[in-house]
Amino acid sequence: MAVPVAPDASADTPIARAAQAAMHARAAGTEAWPRPRSCRVLTIANQKGGVGKTTTAVNLAASLAMHGARVLVVDLDPQGNASTALDVEHRSGTPSVYNVLVEGLPLAGIVQKVQGFPQLYCAPATIDLAGAEIELVPVVARESRLARAVAEYDASLLDYIFIDCPPSLGLLTVNALVAAPEVLIPIQCEYYALEGLEQLLRTVELVKSHLNPRLVVSTILLTMFDSRTRLASQVAEEVRGHFGDLVLRSVIPRSVRVSEAPSYGQSVMTYDPGSSGALAYLEAAREMAFGNEPRPVG
Ligand code: ADP
Ligand code: MG
Repeated sequence: MAVPVAPDASADTPIARAAQAAMHARAAGTEAWPRPRSCRVLTIANQKGGVGKTTTAVNLAASLAMHGARVLVVDLDPQGNASTALDVEHRSGTPSVYNVLVEGLPLAGIVQKVQGFPQLYCAPATIDLAGAEIELVPVVARESRLARAVAEYDASLLDYIFIDCPPSLGLLTVNALVAAPEVLIPIQCEYYALEGLEQLLRTVELVKSHLNPRLVVSTILLTMFDSRTRLASQVAEEVRGHFGDLVLRSVIPRSVRVSEAPSYGQSVMTYDPGSSGALAYLEAAREMAFGNEPRPVG
């Protein structure tokens, strides 16, 4: 099976890029990846901002959708960055995750199709969501609003749901952790990468013991790796030492093309499929499709 390998920085020359793009096009055109037996719901969380949560949600979703999976991205960040990157309507007043959480609107009432993909969908976030943390306080079962909406959605229509969290451990992120059995943590290969992780893991444990017993951290993804610095390698090594097999082998390099894509309303998978960032996300998605699914316990 011809599969693009995780690129390294040395592949970032025009000729290497063109060759990789050709390989990618061939792989993308022919290969349907296995789909999970039932819909996998993954919350992408890290209370740090700018670590690649949204980029990861969008590009894993796009990669899987390009290989036959039916994928929904739930944008749970009032900034609406995932909605922007997927180019779905999310002006204030658009039916959005806000209406689902605060008013109990069904998810089916807000989900939009993402153009350019046969089976990629987005539940958009509008700026209205910024008020939800406070508006939800008096609401019954306020931590489980999203879980209920996801449970009521016809999951037989989907293979993956990615929930893109805001950079905090507030009620929105807690809703995401209650709604999903799996947590995916992107970790930036930078100074202080591990700082604050303990707090996130403690929150995961709290949610697990009180609200969602099936919750597990299933996946760690190293992002924004700069192969020129020794620090990045040290961070990557430390994370692998700590989390072992949970860490995907594919590491996402720092790449200008990745950061440019959202301003064109695109994933990097469509914006520049041969770029090192796109190939790394493709490989990470492939690892997920081919078996990093947590085994059921008990
Ligand atoms: P978060 O959702 O955790 O706040 P983002 O995914 O929005 O993080 O990423 C933060 C910023 O870094 C964005 O401007 C994004 O385009 C950029 N970025 C993310 N991943 C990469 C990467 N691999 N290379 C270069 N820039 C990146
Ligand atoms: Mg984000």
